[in-house]
Amino acid sequence: MDATARHSSPDNTLYADHPYFQNRVVNLNASKKYDVIVVGGGTGGFSAAVSAARLGVKVLLVERYGFLGGTITAGLVNPFMSFYAGKKQIIGGIFQEVIDRLEGMGGYDAKTRAFDPEIMKYILDRIVLEAGVDLLLHTVFVKASKRGSRVEGIVLHNKSGFHSVSADIIIDGTGDGDVAVSAGAPYEKGRPKDGLMQPMTLNFDLAGVRQDEMPPKREINRAYREAKDRGIIACPREDVLWFHTVHRGIIHFNTTRIIRVDGTEAEDLTKAEIEGRRQMFEIVDWLKKTFPAFRDAYIVRSGVQVGVRETRRIIGEYIMTAEDIVQAHKFPDGICRGSYPIDIHNPAGEGTIMMPPPPGDYYEIPYRCLIPLRVENLLIGCRCISATHEAHAAIRIIPIIMGVGQAAGAAAALCIRHKTSPREIDPSLLRETLRSQGAIL
Ligand SMILES: Cc1cc2nc3c(=O)[nH]c(=O)nc-3n(C[C@H](O)[C@H](O)[C@H](O)COP(=O)(O)OP(=O)(O)OC[C@H]3O[C@@H](n4cnc5c(N)ncnc54)[C@H](O)[C@@H]3O)c2cc1C
Repeated sequence: MDATARHSSPDNTLYADHPYFQNRVVNLNASKKYDVIVVGGGTGGFSAAVSAARLGVKVLLVERYGFLGGTITAGLVNPFMSFYAGKKQIIGGIFQEVIDRLEGMGGYDAKTRAFDPEIMKYILDRIVLEAGVDLLLHTVFVKASKRGSRVEGIVLHNKSGFHSVSADIIIDGTGDGDVAVSAGAPYEKGRPKDGLMQPMTLNFDLAGVRQDEMPPKREINRAYREAKDRGIIACPREDVLWFHTVHRGIIHFNTTRIIRVDGTEAEDLTKAEIEGRRQMFEIVDWLKKTFPAFRDAYIVRSGVQVGVRETRRIIGEYIMTAEDIVQAHKFPDGICRGSYPIDIHNPAGEGTIMMPPPPGDYYEIPYRCLIPLRVENLLIGCRCISATHEAHAAIRIIPIIMGVGQAAGAAAALCIRHKTSPREIDPSLLRETLRSQGAIL
């Protein structure tokens, strides 16, 4: 599908005239009190903010970049991994809405599940504004302040300075658990034997590829192995991982591999960006010299930042395990389904481990994984929910994390409505609320 031919915007209002901006200033210095603050407007945080706002509570969404989406826009991750168990769709809700909106603008290909990242940025803006969320971009979370076991307020920083804001419920959507850790929640990092986390990947798109002339995957991989053996390529990945995009002639690569790095250490992130770019140019140069289909290809974009698969996992009321995934466990407080296998890219070199649930079956993620220990008014709405290294490797994909975010947002709104805390929420009420928002449960 060629998205450019079908670009059409459902909303042509100039931004200054948009109802969202009328009489509406996000004035952090006025100590405005929100019901819910979502920190991090990525895959999960976006969904959490929308879900909560639609249930009628006052929501502030804070994001460090100038656009929403996090790993799916800034990290250039594509396509959506599976949201089916056999032939049955198992994830709906806000995730399905995102697909519908992408499709409406020619930004989604149902066959490959690829989406256009620029259209994604645009539609995430629209969905958030329409839900009535107060959105603050270019704003970074600095620290949380606590009274007893509650987060009393958080400190943010942006071009206007430092700001203290507070809310009854805070949702951590940072992917790394920045808020939870600052608030004193316990966490783990990496695999048990040596603490190593999954490798990082700088994703990129190559344009100008003559797709019809592309050799089969096995031929590319055979030549890649030879190039590695001859020392032409120094990338720890075992093969070349690429996907079709919604645009003909543009191929997406998720193939660089940066090992032994920690996404919560700025020095490691710096190393990873530099090594990711080095590997990207090395592989592209090799592709161009080796295959006529790539001769005129060029890098049209790479991630705004290196893709980080795994950092902290915040320990919650329940820790999901490998058994929960491979034995397709269901839970009375299940808030999202998934069928994606445990998918561990070797943190130390070549190889990828895949361990699926039984064919056609699915597992559920318990709400308790979103409730961190030791903090009362905090929920996790992103990939760092309570799970082992192995279980995290399954639940981290886009469709599931949108479902997790939606559940965190709905639970936060129920807390406001019923004047209670995340631990006290009735799971069956939460499930019913999520179903009313289109979730498949
Ligand atoms: C290389 C790679 C390849 C992948 N491939 C696929 C794939 O093909 N298909 C698939 O379905 N899934 C894939 N995934 C998994 C999936 O993309 C991610 O796990 C998921 O998107 C994570 O969502 P999240 O909300 O937890 O984090 P993010 O989407 O990263 O959101 C976190 C947000 O918080 C913001 N933030 C962080 N810290 C702060 C702070 N201190 N202050 C303010 N804002 C902050 C970030 O800017 C970001 O917007 C891949 C992941 C990676 C890294």
